[in-house]
Amino acid sequence: MNNPEQRLAEVRKRIREAAQAAGRREEEIKLIAVSKRFSADDIIPVIEAGQTRFGENRVQEAKAKWPALRQAHPDIELHLIGPLQSNKCADAVALFDVIHTVDRQKIARALKAEMEKQGRKPRLLVQVNTGEEPQKAGIVPRETSDFIDYCKNELGLDIIGLMCIPPIDEEAALHFALLKNLAEDQGLKVLSMGMSGDFETAIALGATHIRIGTAIFGQRDYG
Ligand SMILES: *Cc1c(COP(=O)(O)O)cnc(C)c1O
Repeated sequence: MNNPEQRLAEVRKRIREAAQAAGRREEEIKLIAVSKRFSADDIIPVIEAGQTRFGENRVQEAKAKWPALRQAHPDIELHLIGPLQSNKCADAVALFDVIHTVDRQKIARALKAEMEKQGRKPRLLVQVNTGEEPQKAGIVPRETSDFIDYCKNELGLDIIGLMCIPPIDEEAALHFALLKNLAEDQGLKVLSMGMSGDFETAIALGATHIRIGTAIFGQRDYG
């Protein structure tokens, strides 16, 4: 299977089967095609195969690729799934429909200010560092509740869900279950979890948004 349409169809089939196995409706699971490091030429066939939801992890890269693609395909929904710096918040608010990586007060404040300034309201998720890895972005689990309170009560930001990236050397299921529990505690419905290697597990544990790069686009050079 070396063309992207076939790979996309295969991923969709696996989503359908995982949803069925978990007793869930397929429509509850939104597929985000992660197009980081791939060019417009690689992305267009995937759009033409009917995919509308895409993810990028760098604001600058997304800004270079997506405005032109979106002009031709206005129904595209763009998700930011990589860490955000405060000096990139203006571009992020202008470009993305959903931001999965709100993870500290400074970023939340910068997003709030930009949303007011631009009159745009991307939907927001909080990234949780479920493995408490020092090199990884995200709020640690025990601080999640306070951070969401801060976003809601101090800033009036509507947080719709949580996102995590499990440590590569650990059982992903434990991290997905932890994220689901945290979301339930907070009354949040959106769970962004699961990548090419573990999305069936994530679906079994309640993922509403899965982020799939390699299984659709093939191997990246790096990252
Ligand atoms: C790159 C990336 C993905 C996609 O990973 P694959 O293993 O290629 O499916 C998902 N989520 C995040 C945050 C990423 O950076």
